[in-house]
Amino acid sequence: MVPIHENYQDYRPPRYARPTIARLLLALPQHYLLGLQSVVLTYAAAIGRGKTHRIQGGKYLRNSCLGYYHHKWKGEPAWIEIVVDNIVAGILRPGVPNFVMYIPILRNYAFADVLFHEVDHHLDHTIAAPAPGGEAAAESWNGRLMASYLLKRYSYLRHWWLTLLSLTFFQILYLFWRQK
Ligand SMILES: [Zn+2]
Repeated sequence: MVPIHENYQDYRPPRYARPTIARLLLALPQHYLLGLQSVVLTYAAAIGRGKTHRIQGGKYLRNSCLGYYHHKWKGEPAWIEIVVDNIVAGILRPGVPNFVMYIPILRNYAFADVLFHEVDHHLDHTIAAPAPGGEAAAESWNGRLMASYLLKRYSYLRHWWLTLLSLTFFQILYLFWRQK
């Protein structure tokens, strides 16, 4: 199991943040995480200025605020940073009730979306990549970790009509959030 560290200083994270990340890490094939030193939970204000992330187009600007992958560098092993307050704020937009974060599948999905994207970057650097490096490679792993996680965790999604129902539900929620 990859160690999880917390770097919050004056931010009080929601109690579910750490256990959610821990469960998501356990749900992944463990050899995907080889060479990963740690996952650090942090918050936006703790991210230093001048920190850069490969960004191709505005699409990844938002991503870069939710998590970072730090690849192996000068003998330092790779590690991942998860920006907890930005993930929560991305869902709890004005008008969205707090209880939304207490719906486990939504919470898991929000954290998995960020964590798995950063693990994709790690796979891009360790296991052979299906596309040239950077965001393109992370996106070409796109959805694979998420799909296998969702199928494992929510095995009822194997029934096509439940999948359809869930997707419709997510679509409606998404449209609801977009209007905010
Ligand atoms: Zn990325």
